[in-house]
Amino acid sequence: MSLKALNGSMENNNLLETAIDAVRKACRVTRKVQEGLAQIRQFQKDDKSPVTVADFASQAVVCHVLQESLGSFNLVGEETSQALRQDDQERLCLSVVEAVKTVWPEATREHVLNAIDLGDHAATAPTYWTLDPVDGTKGFLRGEQYAISLALIEKGRVVLGVLGCPNLSADLSRPFFDPDLEGRIFYAVSGEGTHSVSAVQKDDNAVRLSPPVPGEHIRVCESVEPTHSKHDDTAKIVEILGGAGKPVRLDSQCKYAVVARGQADAYLRLPTRKGYVEKIWDHAAGMLIAQEAGIVVTDIHGQTLDFSIGVGLDNNQGIVCAHPKFHNRIIEAIRKLSIGV
Ligand code: AMP
Ligand code: MG
Repeated sequence: MSLKALNGSMENNNLLETAIDAVRKACRVTRKVQEGLAQIRQFQKDDKSPVTVADFASQAVVCHVLQESLGSFNLVGEETSQALRQDDQERLCLSVVEAVKTVWPEATREHVLNAIDLGDHAATAPTYWTLDPVDGTKGFLRGEQYAISLALIEKGRVVLGVLGCPNLSADLSRPFFDPDLEGRIFYAVSGEGTHSVSAVQKDDNAVRLSPPVPGEHIRVCESVEPTHSKHDDTAKIVEILGGAGKPVRLDSQCKYAVVARGQADAYLRLPTRKGYVEKIWDHAAGMLIAQEAGIVVTDIHGQTLDFSIGVGLDNNQGIVCAHPKFHNRIIEAIRKLSIGV
């Protein structure tokens, strides 16, 4: 299962094709759940329930596809089936199974619960996958941007990343709050560049991303959620660099793809509190997709992201994902402003 050991072989392609297939099917499932959002909201008191259904269903589908194609594998997923197995969660569980059936028609309750639990690895093996089944919960609930993020980590290095962005348009002029009907999948293999393909059409031709050309004035993107990234600090950095316009805000790892394809020059994730540890599934796929498109990704102190120590990026703080033209200057500005110290 190791990419390096497989050394560009057929099996290497199989890993990538399997990962893309898994993410594309998960996109279909989350899209289906999202189509029913308004209806679910009419009857459900808990505003978060649609994303809970999408989360579990997405993880079940990704694990099922990997198992069918690869047999055994290790995967660090965000979800476990424990909550779904409670007696009082039967309705929720039924909704998850219904959603999964969109792409796996013969799935039963037990199939789905067991598939979710294939994602219970603790990030201890030399090689494992990591999955965020629905990254950007708030974006999903607003019908805006969210992502399905799957990456393969080998001896502490991210070697493959697939990012499903079901609401992100191929049309770069389309506003992020306006959900696309097709969506994009971005994928990268270490040393082989970043490609983008339709999230819906299986036979769509993949397009290799060309190196982004930055403008004179930096354009930045950041989280919508002020508790995930300090907006005031972004504004100060943009001012120091002489940037023009306001930062664009969108949820999820779509921000990495947005920088990779040159819609913004930087994605800043600036700590809002001491001690928050970023999770590997929130960054592994996105980081590789940006790096393979020629973008520099470090933490706010300019350190490489360390994926070798388990589920958290404990050796890092925040994220600076930026075009090489701006990356050093951002790190300098962060130092000058004493952000994160
Ligand atoms: P975003 O959509 O970029 O705002 O990021 C969503 C991710 O932020 C979620 O998947 C969470 O894991 C993560 N998150 C939760 N709390 C924090 C925090 N205090 N700082 C940074 N990220 C967080
Ligand atoms: Mg997440």
